[in-house]
Amino acid sequence: MWRRSFSNGVSLTRTLKGKKWDALVIGGGHNGLIAAAYLARGGLSVAVLERRHVIGGAAVTEELIPGFKFSRCSYLQSLLRPSVIRELELKKHGLKLLKPIATSFTPCLDGLYLLLGFDDQQNNSEISKFSKRDADTYPRYENELSKFCKIMDFLLDSPPPEALHGDLSFHDLLRDKMQKSVFWARCLRHVLSLGQKDLVDFMDILLSPTTKILNKWFESDVLKATVAADAITGSMVSQIMIGDSGEVDGVLLVDGTRVHSSFVLSNATPYKTFMGLVPRDVLPDDFLRAIKYSDYHSGVTKINVAVDKLPQFHCFKSSQLEVGPHHTATVHIGCESMEEIGSACQDAWNGLPSRRPVMEMTIPSSLDKTISPPGKHVVSLFTQYTPYKPSDGSWEDPTYRESYGQKCFSLIDEYAPGFSSSVIGYDLLTPPDLEREFGLTGGNIFHGAMGLDSLFLMRPVKGWSGYRTPVRGLYLCGSGSHPGGGVMGAPGRNAAHVVLQDFKKQSR
Ligand SMILES: Cc1cc2nc3c(=O)[nH]c(=O)nc-3n(C[C@H](O)[C@H](O)[C@H](O)COP(=O)(O)OP(=O)(O)OC[C@H]3O[C@@H](n4cnc5c(N)ncnc54)[C@H](O)[C@@H]3O)c2cc1C
Repeated sequence: MWRRSFSNGVSLTRTLKGKKWDALVIGGGHNGLIAAAYLARGGLSVAVLERRHVIGGAAVTEELIPGFKFSRCSYLQSLLRPSVIRELELKKHGLKLLKPIATSFTPCLDGLYLLLGFDDQQNNSEISKFSKRDADTYPRYENELSKFCKIMDFLLDSPPPEALHGDLSFHDLLRDKMQKSVFWARCLRHVLSLGQKDLVDFMDILLSPTTKILNKWFESDVLKATVAADAITGSMVSQIMIGDSGEVDGVLLVDGTRVHSSFVLSNATPYKTFMGLVPRDVLPDDFLRAIKYSDYHSGVTKINVAVDKLPQFHCFKSSQLEVGPHHTATVHIGCESMEEIGSACQDAWNGLPSRRPVMEMTIPSSLDKTISPPGKHVVSLFTQYTPYKPSDGSWEDPTYRESYGQKCFSLIDEYAPGFSSSVIGYDLLTPPDLEREFGLTGGNIFHGAMGLDSLFLMRPVKGWSGYRTPVRGLYLCGSGSHPGGGVMGAPGRNAAHVVLQDFKKQSR
């Protein structure tokens, strides 16, 4: 439908309002699209309503500078659920995953570097440059993490066993009891398979601050900071129509078009959905307060840079033109010690953009030749920390914005001399830009903080983790719901399963 009608606004409006849709999805981020695909596969007629001119949300690719295609927000694909890839046959539809030669590269100002990858022996000799003890410990640390990931897999692919709301038949209650028993039994089986020692270690990793865990495992500053850098990572619809009986009746577009459906899924953030799209008087006070006071803080500024040559790191000499393994890895800049990360963070607590930002640099064109002109490259900089409202200036001021961009480029120059002069152009997205452009409340990259108090049965708020909302017929399907942010597709998939279940029940 999108393809057929996009070029012609009049026919798009006619198509949208000409029928009652089985389901509408507000927002064409990857979760909205995944939810729509599962619903369509389940036989429902579905329309996706996106406010931007392109779909993809925070996983979009846009050609902002001719010849340079930027993945403007998200920059690494490692989380997409295997279940989604398999069930939606994404590979058959063209999905191709590009594997880097190395995974992580941390250059140091003293001329050393740490390059980690897929080869255990090579990792050992790399870490040994900094600490022999850490080199021996590292495989055990990796093993422990992958053991715990297995438990998480089960939780990610399941809707949380949330309490049911509203009038329920005996049959509903019985089925719910059965489903919850199965869920908790499977959960228990996974947990018990660990044994007591692993269970305590798992709790330790889950609950302890990153610094405490890393200090326990490792002694080398560079390795700790490299591992820590991964752990610190932040047609417009105007209203959802509610019928007299308090149930969803569809969506009102800004041009006044009414699009009808009894099932609406929102891919927008919980804050945007409930504070912006739903009339306040249909929501319980305690629910509204919980949504309003959820944590949407963020300190991320993304800079997408077009350069005319590959960065040359002085600690890792390679040919000017050739892609080295380190160019395909995530490059950690300004990340040589935990103190460096700590002081970057402290600046933001004081209301200032970090004087020496912590950066993750990726060069996707080192693996994909189709996204930049020959010999030129796309460089993605995920930079931290930048307060939403800095106390020493404003992100609206072009000079202030530019000075932050230049600060990041100068810091890279310290490791890769000449980087600044290779810049052809760039796109800078501060927290307010991420909010304005992509609808990310507060600029939060995950649709809301992912602390332990906002996960699983508490996401988005306690009592409403099952994708259903206090408005009958309205569901959440984006990163603000379980299991959270990242290009995972799990919220979209899980939400679609819940909607299909309710749709079948209603059609009976
Ligand atoms: C800078 C940055 C870097 C990131 N890096 C990574 C990474 O490397 N790896 C990773 O896995 N994750 C990363 N993430 C997180 C990840 O990109 C997001 O968690 C994920 O893409 C969110 O997907 P979503 O479908 O839930 O929501 P979104 O992608 O936010 O989609 C929501 C959609 O709803 C639309 N919308 C909102 N309001 C309305 C409305 N009123 N009407 C119509 N449409 C509306 C928006 O325009 C948007 O298209 C990053 C995020 C950011 C911002």
